[in-house]
Amino acid sequence: MRYISTRGEAPALGFEDVLLTGLATDGGLYVPESLPHFSVEEIRSWRGLPYAELAYKVMYPFVEDAIPADDFRKMLGETYSVFSHQAVAPLVQLDTNEWVMELFRGPTLAFKDFALQLLGRLLDYVLEKRKQHVVIMGATSGDTGSAAIEGCRRCEHVDIFILHPYQRVSEVQRRQMTTVQGDNIHNIAVKGNFDDCQRMVKESFGNQSFLGGKTQLAAVNSINWARIMAQIVYYFQASLALGGPDRSMAFSVPTGNFGDIFAGYLAKKMGLPISQLVIATNRNDILHRFMSGNKYEQHQLEHTLSPSMDIMVSSNFERLLFDLHGRDGAAVKDLLERAAKGPVSIEDYRWKHARKLFDSDAVDDKTTCDTIRDIYEKNEYLLDPHTAIGVRAARNCRRDSTVPMITLGTAHPAKFPDAISESGLVVKPQLPAHMADLFEREERYTVLDNNVSEVQGFIAKHWKNA
Ligand SMILES: *Cc1c(COP(=O)(O)O)cnc(C)c1O
Repeated sequence: MRYISTRGEAPALGFEDVLLTGLATDGGLYVPESLPHFSVEEIRSWRGLPYAELAYKVMYPFVEDAIPADDFRKMLGETYSVFSHQAVAPLVQLDTNEWVMELFRGPTLAFKDFALQLLGRLLDYVLEKRKQHVVIMGATSGDTGSAAIEGCRRCEHVDIFILHPYQRVSEVQRRQMTTVQGDNIHNIAVKGNFDDCQRMVKESFGNQSFLGGKTQLAAVNSINWARIMAQIVYYFQASLALGGPDRSMAFSVPTGNFGDIFAGYLAKKMGLPISQLVIATNRNDILHRFMSGNKYEQHQLEHTLSPSMDIMVSSNFERLLFDLHGRDGAAVKDLLERAAKGPVSIEDYRWKHARKLFDSDAVDDKTTCDTIRDIYEKNEYLLDPHTAIGVRAARNCRRDSTVPMITLGTAHPAKFPDAISESGLVVKPQLPAHMADLFEREERYTVLDNNVSEVQGFIAKHWKNA
């Protein structure tokens, strides 16, 4: 399997190189040159497989040039054994033919564990083979940082530096990052905001000379193809559990960076019968505005009760735009260069095609809280605010009540207690047993000024073989 850039100029790469690179050298994102396609008979034959085994069936075509089958199977077995539910991604029923898929049974209680638990193992495997070392540098507003740290804590060939905005992440989120012990884990609290952190990361990827040529940077945000790949699997899992592929499914996906929903789009292209995909956003609704009016335009960032979806530009949307433009990299490059300067539209027939593929909705904080309260009152089931947005959008956009509607449950409610109390509920979501002592654990992090040379100096000094 070869991977090509959405902007058409960077060289095609194999899986190992795609895993170790961030953006392509032309500024694009890597996508598979072609997708595997599974027949209905083949998918049906996967019924009843344990999650890790299903993951092997779905993902192996993407990695087969780089990893022998037995090694990959073993890696997947380890990856998904750290989840706290035997089904890994269990389904919970909300109403007749309506479900939530709980993707928050991993170590950090958000769906990002599905990909980052695997990514850490993939990196170490490939780096061991190549006798190489990387420094992961990433910025987080919350969930990505902790999932990446948990995913890489045992990696021998990886040092990880996560930048978070000092005093601007929730206490649960901070503690999930700063209480993980390990010589290769470094938390940096930057005296600035999330955008400052992200800018420093971008700048450092652009010029890595501060590492003295002795190691290189690797990316853990969802521009990394391996993350998208791992997220395709649970669409198959949910479908098979509810009678697929002999009936089609609808999915509603709380979205910020368009990563998780893009994985659903790929599952459909790979042969899984999916009749509806709903893009669910909060007030940061660039995707919903594009889907409703064919205008792609950045607005000011708003802070909402669903912070993991507080995003102005949706980086993975570029991967969809590439397909919408018949995989013409030059057209995508031109469009995104214009989009950086102001609002853009695409040709009408391309936009109409996008509207056939996706429905969309934007849900504000008040409606999010109403949904949390409503579901709790009717079902005694607590939704986190991101999942609540998905459930609300699913109900608003649903086309056919005979098709099972599955909302991706992206986080555990205990991660976002503020939204629960804003909903007027007195119930307090409890952290699961393995995290019950989170507030007693020792924290480790370094506070640095909002200054890129200071941050780079810190990294240069503290990675393992510095
Ligand atoms: C990251 C995240 C999202 C958004 O996922 P994307 O892949 O960026 O669309 C939604 N909910 C939660 C809880 C998250 O952590």
